[in-house]
Amino acid sequence: MGDNRDPGQRVGGGDPADPAISTTEHIGLAETHSAHNYDPLPVVIAEGTGAWVSDVEGRRYLDLLAGYSALNFGHRNPELLAVAHRQLDRLTLTSRAFYNDQFAPFVTALSGMVGKDQVLPMNTGVEAVETAIKVARRWAYDVKGVPDGEASIIVAGGNFHGRTTTVISFSEDPDAYTGFGPYTPGFRVVPYGDAEAVEAAVGPTTAAVLVEPVQGEAGVLVPPPDYLPRLREICDRERVLLVADEVQSGLGRTGTVVACEHTGVEPDVYLFGKALGGGVLPVSAVVADEDVLGVLGPGQHGSTFGGNPLAGAMGRTVVRMLREGPYLADARALGEVMRTRLKEFIGAGAFSVRTIGPWAGIDVDPSLASGRELCELLAERGVLVKDAHGSTIRLSPPLVVSEDDLNWGLDQVAAVLADLRTRAGTG
Ligand SMILES: *Cc1c(COP(=O)(O)O)cnc(C)c1O
Repeated sequence: MGDNRDPGQRVGGGDPADPAISTTEHIGLAETHSAHNYDPLPVVIAEGTGAWVSDVEGRRYLDLLAGYSALNFGHRNPELLAVAHRQLDRLTLTSRAFYNDQFAPFVTALSGMVGKDQVLPMNTGVEAVETAIKVARRWAYDVKGVPDGEASIIVAGGNFHGRTTTVISFSEDPDAYTGFGPYTPGFRVVPYGDAEAVEAAVGPTTAAVLVEPVQGEAGVLVPPPDYLPRLREICDRERVLLVADEVQSGLGRTGTVVACEHTGVEPDVYLFGKALGGGVLPVSAVVADEDVLGVLGPGQHGSTFGGNPLAGAMGRTVVRMLREGPYLADARALGEVMRTRLKEFIGAGAFSVRTIGPWAGIDVDPSLASGRELCELLAERGVLVKDAHGSTIRLSPPLVVSEDDLNWGLDQVAAVLADLRTRAGTG
């Protein structure tokens, strides 16, 4: 077939896992045949177990990103895999035209986890956000009595809630929104962490305040401790729904079931995603009381795959593992390791560090390296992390990482910073 060979055939007769295909060839084919809407590090991962992955050439890496918290329970967690295998052998998909036997256990477990009445299952995180926007608008019209078409939602600057046209309409990241208008109206953006600004923006047509309890993509920004409590007061007083996007912060990432627990605030609506699928498939959900989710009737919202039996099996297992397993206690212990060790980086290449549980943002001196360059240097040392913006990197290790491995990973961060300071003549 010469030069006309199907590129799919070139990677091992359609099996991209063919070990004969090098990193360089994988990347070449990927860059030729996939859209360039990502700029991945030059690592082609082939296998993963726990906190470790290996690439197509057998190099091992400690995964300190964990799929942006989608892999809180690690790669191929044995308990989750066993449930997935059992479910794959019984039933995988039904659509919501019928019930399936995983559905009731899933929605019962997830609503019980946060003490709410009901769950609306979707697939991706952004679908949970979209669902919450529709629910909040409908609630504003049907329950609060906002005139039709006038409902508005207050959101925070620097937010990340996903990538749909509506959700990027209230992003402040030019990469996310530029060139994708016209934008969906009905959103007010006010500074993150600033309850006064919410107070000033709220009014009789406000349906909801939508906020991340900790801003992950922005670099693991932890708001002042009185922020969420004050939002709760404002929302109660003004009859506004408080919607907590816990897609990344929830399900163990901060050492608690939900990040809202740190300030004792109970939002009206929780959004979950990422880790809810157990690292196996996308599973998301909106969780709220009946007086909120009850505004939707049949046909008014849904998803073909939402609440499918495999998703239900994963979701209810994740809830059970958080309740019964060692994950929350382990997360808190790992968080202590990170909090203590990351302090050492301040003045040693880093300007500031933030941690909440085993979740950290590190602002590196931009004269030393960009965030991207830091990620590349760490990958060379066998550690996978992701930059946020500028020279910030964030760490979100799987909750199953051992303290020794985590310490080794942090040693590599320290070593990269030391190398950079030597290079810059400041070390
Ligand atoms: C990742 C994320 C989303 C979007 O989730 P997808 O599954 O990528 O659509 C929404 N909100 C927050 C806070 C996230 O971190």
